[in-house]
Amino acid sequence: MKPFTYERATSAAEAASAAAGRKGAKFIAGGTNLLDLMKLEIEAPVHLIDVNGTGLDKMEETDEGGLRIGALVSNTALASDIRVRRDYGVLTRAIVAGASGQLRNKATTGGNLLQRTRCSYFYDTNQSCNKRKPGSGCAAKGGYSRQLGIVGVSDACIATYPGDMAVALRVLDAVVETMKPDGTTRAIPIGEFHKLWGDTPHIETALEPGEIITAVTLPKPLGGTHIYHKVRDRRSYAFALVSVAAVLDENGKGRVAVGGIAPRPWRVEAADAALPDVRAAAQALTQGASPTDQNAFKIALVERTLAGVMAKARGEAA
Ligand SMILES: Cc1cc2nc3c(=O)[nH]c(=O)nc-3n(C[C@H](O)[C@H](O)[C@H](O)COP(=O)(O)OP(=O)(O)OC[C@H]3O[C@@H](n4cnc5c(N)ncnc54)[C@H](O)[C@@H]3O)c2cc1C
Ligand code: SF4
Repeated sequence: MKPFTYERATSAAEAASAAAGRKGAKFIAGGTNLLDLMKLEIEAPVHLIDVNGTGLDKMEETDEGGLRIGALVSNTALASDIRVRRDYGVLTRAIVAGASGQLRNKATTGGNLLQRTRCSYFYDTNQSCNKRKPGSGCAAKGGYSRQLGIVGVSDACIATYPGDMAVALRVLDAVVETMKPDGTTRAIPIGEFHKLWGDTPHIETALEPGEIITAVTLPKPLGGTHIYHKVRDRRSYAFALVSVAAVLDENGKGRVAVGGIAPRPWRVEAADAALPDVRAAAQALTQGASPTDQNAFKIALVERTLAGVMAKARGEAA
């Protein structure tokens, strides 16, 4: 691990301004992703700004009937909150499908949104990786790509966004609230928060330098059955090959978002409109796919996972 300095911020404004004043600074929340990346020297911040003392660990109801989740709320606290379990069940289910209890106790809402891809070449500093070192190439192309992306990917990078929570946030139309170093705030719809890789796969989100996530806001609850189904190589402690977050009414109409196939949680308007026709919805979700030989199975897996989700919504599957 490279040497770094450390400070604790006591407010979001203080953290953002500290980040702006120090090139190469990074925020640290739970540290469950950042520390691993620092140990491997994939990330080498010169200065860490600990945001755990910023008071962003509260949840409150909004005037619009939704819920505002502070960026420092832990995954465990969020998933177990009675309002979330009652009104946003898809979010609870997505969070508990991820990581382990110990990790979820440390992992935060903001940090979880910003976790980095799990492409194995990204984690191996002996391999070329445009995301880790812009312009160096992509070892995954022609390499091991079973778990990588099939839609929204680019010639420069075929990695996926790996998280579960954000897939549920996408189906719920959450909004990410931020603060810039000059004190101005932004509300970024979750669908615009994660970038497609394009020619710049190292730029992963809409955040600007020094901008801190302060909260995630959920709109008022959607009625319907909330489902999160995650397909993975092991039954637990593994990232999704394909996951589906859904909120469906009794006729199978509603919304779906898919994880494990793209640089961002993947939601397509035409797929929502096609429901409850599973085949048409799956085709809309995978339209334009450019899979490798090793991950072409994900096209069929999206349809099968969606079919299972629909069966669950109809009460036909456990
Ligand atoms: C073994 C293992 C298995 C896992 N399995 C899963 C899984 O199945 N599904 C899943 O979804 N996740 C999984 N994870 C990932 C885990 O959920 C993330 O590591 C965690 O959510 C990151 O949150 P954190 O608070 O620890 O972030 P940190 O590691 O502290 O930070 C992550 C990034 O976010 C930035 N950051 C943190 N807070 C803010 C903020 N408020 N504003 C701006 N930037 C900020 C940091 O600078 C850093 O770049 C796994 C992790 C491990 C180690
Ligand atoms: S797929 Fe992306 S993250 Fe993986 S090696 Fe290629 S550029 Fe790097």
